[in-house]
Amino acid sequence: MAGKNKKEVQHISVVTEDSVKFFEKYINNPSPTGFEWQGQRLWLDYLAPYVDDTFTDNYGTAVGVINPEADFKVVIEAHADEISWFVNYITKDGLIYVIRNGGSDHQIAPSKKVNIHTDKGIVKGVFGWPAIHTRAGEKEEAPTLKNIFVDTGCTSQEEVEALGIHVGCVITYDDDFMILNDRYYVGRAMDNRAGGFMIAEVARLLKENNKTLPFGLYIVNSVQEEIGLRGAEMIAQRIKPNVAIVTDVTHDTTTPMINKITQGDLASGKGPVVSYAPAVQINLNKLLVQVAEKNEIPFQRQASSRSTGTDTDAFAYSNGGVPSALISLPLRYMHTTVEMVHKEDVDNVIRLIYETLLSIENGHEFRTFLK
Ligand SMILES: [Zn+2]
Repeated sequence: MAGKNKKEVQHISVVTEDSVKFFEKYINNPSPTGFEWQGQRLWLDYLAPYVDDTFTDNYGTAVGVINPEADFKVVIEAHADEISWFVNYITKDGLIYVIRNGGSDHQIAPSKKVNIHTDKGIVKGVFGWPAIHTRAGEKEEAPTLKNIFVDTGCTSQEEVEALGIHVGCVITYDDDFMILNDRYYVGRAMDNRAGGFMIAEVARLLKENNKTLPFGLYIVNSVQEEIGLRGAEMIAQRIKPNVAIVTDVTHDTTTPMINKITQGDLASGKGPVVSYAPAVQINLNKLLVQVAEKNEIPFQRQASSRSTGTDTDAFAYSNGGVPSALISLPLRYMHTTVEMVHKEDVDNVIRLIYETLLSIENGHEFRTFLK
């Protein structure tokens, strides 16, 4: 909690029942890195009533624009892609070995149900694992890429291929959205579809509150973040923005086995996280903090060595340098299928982006000194 004021601040919720319905549909839909288009279509359909124009690029990044004719351009951004697996090798016996598409976690794979994406539609499978009984007296093996495998119920390579599965098909988990204890949204790839949801909510609030902006606002849902910020790199060059406010998730470090000495001290429910890193422009970041304090939005602080590891870096280091900042949503259990984000943090990230936009002027000067 920032500021010297110790009084309890009443939480202001902005997410509606209808928007949660969209969020659930969006989270349940798979959006694997490089193959995000179904999720992008859902997202653009939700966003369209709140913007003046929409477009997509060759790799699937989706954009909604308010005031498309304006010269001064502000981006609010999230990434759309979900970590997944690629089919890498089909054995003669019909089992499937995988490689990562993004930072998928081998430790959580055993016993998970999966969806294999083929041209013939979804084929179901499971990550099998040897029974505890059969491991008695043997050395316990940890799951690694060398020993996890998908079983589709087939007994030969030919049978697997007849289902439409080939090397290069992507594989996602089928875990669904849920609300836990009326406090957390839980699901796959809240990282960072929660971000896509939040920036769309910002557009909805601007429209519903009849706010006019003195600049062009580009609401950007980038592809391919999980394999190196690639979608953001592409779209930054295309839009050539003057300012970029990026949202992504960061680790709630209060759960077991996380070292606060190296990872910092961040908790779900305590508000959006403002980042300090060379890529984060000093005066844009100060504006975020001022806006949070003025509007009594709780926030936390995080420092990053070298880079933020988010699309912030891609925008900051594009086009000769774009003033960029990062607003992160604390998240528990990143890159598992039960990623958890706090409902109040989601409201507060939306509010912080929204109020910051209302504080940015046409031609806003962010340089620390002019000459
Ligand atoms: Zn991620």
